[in-house]
Amino acid sequence: MSAEPEDVDCRSFKDWVLKKETELRLEVDNDDTLDIKLISGSAEVFGTELAVGKVYTICSRLKIALFTWYGCTLRVIGSPSVHYQSGETPMIMYLNAHSAIDQLRTKYEANGRIGPKVLVVGPSDVGKSTLCRTLLNYAVRMGRHPCFLDVDIGQGSICIPGSMAILPVVRPCDLETGEFSKKACLVYHYGHSSPGPNLKLYKTIVSELASMFKERCQANSQTKTGGCVINSCGWVDGGGYKALLHVANAFEVDVVLVMDHERLYNDLQRELPSSTHIVPLPKSGGVVVRSREFRKMSRHQATREYFYGKKSHRLFPFSFEVSFSDVQLFKIGAPAVPESALPIGMEQEDGSTQLIPVEASRSLVHSIFSLSMATTLEEDLTVTASAGFLCITAVDEEAKTLTVLSPAQGPLPRKFLLQSDITFLDLE
Ligand code: ATP
Ligand code: MN
Repeated sequence: MSAEPEDVDCRSFKDWVLKKETELRLEVDNDDTLDIKLISGSAEVFGTELAVGKVYTICSRLKIALFTWYGCTLRVIGSPSVHYQSGETPMIMYLNAHSAIDQLRTKYEANGRIGPKVLVVGPSDVGKSTLCRTLLNYAVRMGRHPCFLDVDIGQGSICIPGSMAILPVVRPCDLETGEFSKKACLVYHYGHSSPGPNLKLYKTIVSELASMFKERCQANSQTKTGGCVINSCGWVDGGGYKALLHVANAFEVDVVLVMDHERLYNDLQRELPSSTHIVPLPKSGGVVVRSREFRKMSRHQATREYFYGKKSHRLFPFSFEVSFSDVQLFKIGAPAVPESALPIGMEQEDGSTQLIPVEASRSLVHSIFSLSMATTLEEDLTVTASAGFLCITAVDEEAKTLTVLSPAQGPLPRKFLLQSDITFLDLE
């Protein structure tokens, strides 16, 4: 075998011949990268097609499957930590789900309705985010312009943990980074990595996202036809289930894809309007189960990547000082007063969406804050989009200044900062 110039880089390579409707599953170790080249035939990664002859560098932390509908030969350069071929994939079922959704797009468009709103639900580690990505990719490859909504605040794939976002998708997902272009993305601050700590705030923001989506449909006919795909959290019991029901109702979803969870499928059938299409889907054997520790690390890494980018796509954040007097710090949600501390006959007031001032002090070091787009406190800060996120890296109480790490250069364009309970230890 003659090596081609880009392959002569001291790393070993292996060529894989894949039969039709099979996939090659790869995992890359934490600090490693992997190069992939399609030599012949056709292949895709979760719906993003590979170009023949192009070398793709896969970042660390990614676990991917290279799937082929018709067969292909692939070259893998470097040493994946896991690599194996599988012919058992639910891709045909996912493609069928896409086809049915696309038929709804045509039908709803003819009726002047907003395109299908699709909610993907299921427990942790069943491939919900991957299915969203695949469905969005298939839709844009057919010329549709759907919106991607991520209401998974723990393992979301649009912005920093603790946030929810709406993203218009007009191009397939980038294969190397596993991300869609962030152009025209609108992000909202929630501040926790699960809906549990403040379910009311979570629901409030979901409702805001739903009306924002409607607004965008009114402004753009392609967005209207495209509909949306909503990614949800893997918490499907108790408060998590309530959160899912709220998402389904706020968006008036047309389709719910339930991955690998019979009880959830039955519960939703009972609870949602009969006009909602509820479809059970199996998970792929390739989905990698992640431990609690891994999830925590993954959240930390996602926060880090918000500021520093990925190894192959570095970002260069700024660090600058902000005077205490130039900002106002808040957090959302007052802690509940213990029942015993309430005067007799007094009802507990619900403070979950209340704005609570936060004193600037050293205890804020490592905290992530959202910079609100709001310019006055007349605006409702709980449902105002975020201009960006920053991390407080130092506080000088004498000089009355904060040092912040920010993806954008100072000075800050706004002054209201909302504290998140997500922290980041900047070791760069
Ligand atoms: P969570 O509940 O944490 O949000 P999830 O249900 O959204 O999880 P995914 O994030 O879609 O699950 O998948 C988990 C991991 O498995 C991801 O790293 C994804 O890239 C990987 N994965 C998904 N499908 C496959 C596959 N067919 N082959 C290899 N890896 C896969
Ligand atoms: Mn997910």
